[in-house]
Amino acid sequence: MNLRLWLVSIVGLALLVTAPFVGRRDESNPGTQYNIGMGAARPMEDTVPDIDRLMATVSTIAHDSMMGRQVGSEMNGVVAQWLTDALGDLGIAPAAEDYQVPFKWDGGSGTNVLGRIRGSEGISLIVLTAHFDHVGVRKGEIFNGADDNASGTAAVLEIARLLVDRPPAADVLVAFLDAEEVGLQGARALVSDPPAPFPESTLNVNLDMVARSGGTLWAAGAHHTPELRPILETVSANAPLTLRLGHDRPDAPEGDDWTSSSDHGSFHEAGIPFVYFGVEDHRDYHRPTDDVEQIVPAEFDAAVATVYAAIRALDAALPLLTTSSR
Ligand SMILES: [Zn+2]
Repeated sequence: MNLRLWLVSIVGLALLVTAPFVGRRDESNPGTQYNIGMGAARPMEDTVPDIDRLMATVSTIAHDSMMGRQVGSEMNGVVAQWLTDALGDLGIAPAAEDYQVPFKWDGGSGTNVLGRIRGSEGISLIVLTAHFDHVGVRKGEIFNGADDNASGTAAVLEIARLLVDRPPAADVLVAFLDAEEVGLQGARALVSDPPAPFPESTLNVNLDMVARSGGTLWAAGAHHTPELRPILETVSANAPLTLRLGHDRPDAPEGDDWTSSSDHGSFHEAGIPFVYFGVEDHRDYHRPTDDVEQIVPAEFDAAVATVYAAIRALDAALPLLTTSSR
């Protein structure tokens, strides 16, 4: 998408962001008057991601004081506690006995932070994941990991807030995963020892690096689960950025298949369908310059709005989807 088209989309998104709130403040204003542009009518109780809250979360957990959130570090524990408190503030219950679920692997230990949102039907399960750890401090330089993956962490928290406001049909396991940077260990632990058995109809939606799209966000997973394709294509047609499907073909050139590149790889190995949302590697990927200042809020906002729309669409289709694909 060229820059002008992209800007038009961003303006469209801005209208969507403001409209529901304007309508809410003035009760004499029927919400239907805002059903303009951008496709389908939005019910009034629906809201959209709040970019100020998203940026505030990234600024907090990608701050220098968090020392790069390396698994096992003191500040990684501080971030885990911050996320625990954030789930509590949203009224989201712990998925296990406690929000924090420690785990070990050959070579280390970490802590996942897990909450559960009860769906209206509760037959299916969406496991909504983002890793909160990053690579710490190297040669005296702090790797803040603003895009990788404070962005996905903030997005999952914001989407969880919206799901609490209007519960989905499926249950949602909100999973902030640790130790991704050392081999998807948090995801492996969750898949091998979930707080409750995953139902037949389970889908992993993983977010890892979603802020710095430059106008293009990728959704991987439909190659493995073709039933996802029409759902994601519909989301793409209405998205405020370019949502492309791909990066999931095993016959792709080295590095182009992202099937095992982040936590969704553990779900895939266990036969659980996934959708991974992320951006192409950029110049600050795994560099100490992956800072919050490099994030363009409008790009981040558009990406989270797109992922949120996808989750709503997947939720509606989920029972149909997974019974046929597993
Ligand atoms: Zn990452």
